[in-house]
Amino acid sequence: MLTLKSLCAAHSRHGLLAMAILAAASSPARAQDRSSPNLGLPVDCRLGEDCFVQQMPDVDPSEQAVDPLCGNATYQGHDGWDIRIRTLKDIERGTPVIAIADGTITRARDGIPDRIYDRAHDMDAAGKECGNGLLVEHADGLVSQYCHLKEGSLVVRPGARVKKGDRLGSIGASGLAEFPHVHLSVRRDGKPTEPLTGRPLGLGRESCGETGAGLFEPAVRDALSRSPSAILLVGLANAPPELSSLVRNGEPPGPKTFEPVVAWVWAINVESESFFRLRLVDPDGRTMMNVETKSLERRKANYLAYAGGKLAQREGEYGLQVDLISGSKTIWSTTRSILIGQGER
Ligand SMILES: [Zn+2]
Repeated sequence: MLTLKSLCAAHSRHGLLAMAILAAASSPARAQDRSSPNLGLPVDCRLGEDCFVQQMPDVDPSEQAVDPLCGNATYQGHDGWDIRIRTLKDIERGTPVIAIADGTITRARDGIPDRIYDRAHDMDAAGKECGNGLLVEHADGLVSQYCHLKEGSLVVRPGARVKKGDRLGSIGASGLAEFPHVHLSVRRDGKPTEPLTGRPLGLGRESCGETGAGLFEPAVRDALSRSPSAILLVGLANAPPELSSLVRNGEPPGPKTFEPVVAWVWAINVESESFFRLRLVDPDGRTMMNVETKSLERRKANYLAYAGGKLAQREGEYGLQVDLISGSKTIWSTTRSILIGQGER
């Protein structure tokens, strides 16, 4: 038997339904009524192997910067996803930047050189922060922007129709780029929108961590929801490399002598209190080094750790294993064999 209360509830629900139908008839569907546009990645590369998430959008309007996973892989006012390759040298390989959905190119710019932007010394990038870039208009009020493409790599012009996954150009470092990457930003109905959560940017901490209404296809959503901590490169050298040199010049040459030999690791988005374990095994399988670095006091967007010492004069193939450990969990592990001595590459 219906009580008065439930009758009222039924009545008001009906009223709401009528209003929703009226709204749908008089204006385009509201964002929350639309199904996911199933956006793809803006790059054709293996995430975590040859390209990496370096920075995400900042969803917080205050002076605090919060990424869509409620972490800190972002900075104040950043409005897109930065997917990087390791070094300027890797730009030559031509990592494809691709359309995240079907659409039409509405703007394109090319002709800006690839270089690492240096805030202290460089030219004024005003108006050209995006470098070589594109705007693509999709269905349902969605617009995507791609920045920092490689000079001369754009393969589409304004007016061209593209399918999801079509090549637009290659990852570069044009415009205001401190490392080689593509910056993807998305607008929906004119509003800057965070595509992993599907929410407008600037809603604050409440809008992070919830990807159920996100705009990406499920596999991409899952890939982008993982921790952005990653080991980019490990190696051996006679002296520890510098971060700025790694990103500009690629990895340093291997050791020429046995004294000293330094094992190094370059990692990104390393959280506070995590540390590295570096293990070096000689050509006979004997452990030459097995050290743990001090744990980090503060999160680092880019970090270089190293350890080393004198090695016996034993030429041949050395094995280097590096683990990134957070608490008691190994979150990244990488191995590499490196030839020292004759036949050295
Ligand atoms: Zn960016």
